[in-house]
Amino acid sequence: MADIQGLSAANMVACEPTMEAARAALSRYYGYDEFRPGQSQLIGAVLAGRDALGIMPTGAGKSLCYQIPGIVLPGLALVVSPLVSLMKDQVNALIDAGVRGSFLNSTLTPGQQRTVMARAEAGTYKIMYVAPERLADPVFREFASRVEIPLIAVDEAHCVSQWGQDFRPAYMGIADFIDSLPKRPPVIALTATATDKVRRDVSALLGLQNPECVVTGYDRTNLKFGVEKLNPKQKRARIAQFITEHPGDSGIVYCSTRKDVDGLSGWLAAEGLPVARYHAGMHKDERDDAQERFINDDAPIMVATNAFGMGIDKSNVRWVVHYNMPKSLEAYYQEAGRAGRDGEPSECLLLWCDGDVSTCRFFIESESEYSQFDPEAAEIARAAQRRMLEAMVGYCHTTGCLRRYILNYFGDETPFENGTSECANCSNCLGEFESIDVTQVARSCVKCVRELGGAFGKTLVADIVRGSKSQRVFEGHFETLDSYGTVKESNSLVKEVIELLASEGLLRVSEGKYPTVGLGERSAEAFAEDFEFSIKQMKKAASPKNDKTSRAAASPAPATFGAGAVSAGDDALFEELRALRKQLADAGNIAPYMVFSDRTLRDMCVRRPKDALDFLEVNGVGSRKLERYGEAFLDAIAKFEAGE
Ligand code: ADP
Repeated sequence: MADIQGLSAANMVACEPTMEAARAALSRYYGYDEFRPGQSQLIGAVLAGRDALGIMPTGAGKSLCYQIPGIVLPGLALVVSPLVSLMKDQVNALIDAGVRGSFLNSTLTPGQQRTVMARAEAGTYKIMYVAPERLADPVFREFASRVEIPLIAVDEAHCVSQWGQDFRPAYMGIADFIDSLPKRPPVIALTATATDKVRRDVSALLGLQNPECVVTGYDRTNLKFGVEKLNPKQKRARIAQFITEHPGDSGIVYCSTRKDVDGLSGWLAAEGLPVARYHAGMHKDERDDAQERFINDDAPIMVATNAFGMGIDKSNVRWVVHYNMPKSLEAYYQEAGRAGRDGEPSECLLLWCDGDVSTCRFFIESESEYSQFDPEAAEIARAAQRRMLEAMVGYCHTTGCLRRYILNYFGDETPFENGTSECANCSNCLGEFESIDVTQVARSCVKCVRELGGAFGKTLVADIVRGSKSQRVFEGHFETLDSYGTVKESNSLVKEVIELLASEGLLRVSEGKYPTVGLGERSAEAFAEDFEFSIKQMKKAASPKNDKTSRAAASPAPATFGAGAVSAGDDALFEELRALRKQLADAGNIAPYMVFSDRTLRDMCVRRPKDALDFLEVNGVGSRKLERYGEAFLDAIAKFEAGE
């Protein structure tokens, strides 16, 4: 509340709601020179009084699309968001940039809520965040009918759809609230995840009127993708190694179970690493505390289940590692996409093992997941989940470009800038793996499945082709099959080949808790003369790249960044500026990334500004930030240059 009260100093004047004013606000409050793709189209539509729908990946800059109209339009823009726990942070970031923001939610006492509404009525604020449940409150409706509302923004708009992952029933009430207003303002809906079905739901259920629709590409060029197959024991060591290779950087490790979160975070903490943990089984205070320590960089590494992170704005998350395979590429891209929101090179690494696939299958088939569905709907949902899982398994196995695989999945077929289908920024394209020819193994497995007639699991198939002398083999007289003993490769390799054959449609793994292996629709191909099948394996000698080389090797930095900008000197200065940022953030009681993003610090290292004018040129520095932090950073840079 103190932050909100201290706003009288903000000398913001609403100006003519033109694109020119929008551009001026972009530079003044955010310190950016240009709108990103999609932003100007959406803002232009809203300023012209039209509805708008923006579908952009995480980190594309959706918030600006409603904040800037909120700044330049007269009155109070309402932002509906499901993320109550984040509203305070979002508003603090606005205030730090000099924008008069506020929020109204259940974390405020009734007295505080009344104060916020009274101030809003007096014209103190330009932007107000509210939770969707609030819109049904008669007191709030009264209030909303008295103030001028020039815009309603619906963030995380996919929450209105039952087809999406995060359905929030209260979102269904938004249209009714809009109808209840004396004058209908333009409505802008924003989301990062929207299949066609969800998109239609968003438009219909929010009652959008002929909206300007903007769908930007899904590619996040600053993210490097990697996949490694490791057994559970190796995974822990790999994560510890990964963290030590990225000293000081902030990152998230996603695990699929609470038990893994507890186990892994305990183990990493014992290794002396600065970790926090987060899952839905923890007490709320404990969770809030963990989130805060992460956001403030006191515990820069978060080990969490997928309960953590929706709407986490922390822009300096430098990496996201998955300790288990998620159940869909949708979920994976959303979670991995929390890295590198500031556009700086960042890494997304997925570790997986066969057990992860079985766990996902088990969850899909377990009844409790669909208890609120009728049997037919449950089966439709299950079938969709199975398809999504197969695509995820395919991602783990593919020897092609990982980025291309993701983009194709989301229907984004824009060619890469280099004109090829390789991105040069994923573990496959960077050649960290080698392809092993397993044609013979694959053929034997398909043959064995054909001989067995499809009623057995993959362990038995592997045993048979490897010529096992187990009781099970002899009891079934499987040693008489043609495929018996035709393969010398290891058990784990054979099982991996079976999984890969299934993800490519040559075999089919059945549904149910005890999946059996049958022939897939492409099985005949295995017997063609020119059949070839290969599998990828990590190169033995491949030493994972350290932080500096990966930064340099990542996608070309945008032009504002200076070509090939990273040098050893820059890194040393970056560390000093990062420490200064932390100090200023602690003193101002805000998160470090709100002071400046990593990208802004990097740009300072390249430009080495000497005075206020130079400083304003830095990407992400607006006049308010200059006023507040310019001196401290200019001093630090001057000292560094003087070799002090
Ligand atoms: P989203 O909500 O789409 O995930 P955000 O609104 O959090 O993304 O923006 C991600 C980051 O990009 C933020 O650090 C934001 O300040 C920055 N950003 C947004 N628009 C621009 C722009 N036009 N130029 C430079 N940076 C931008």
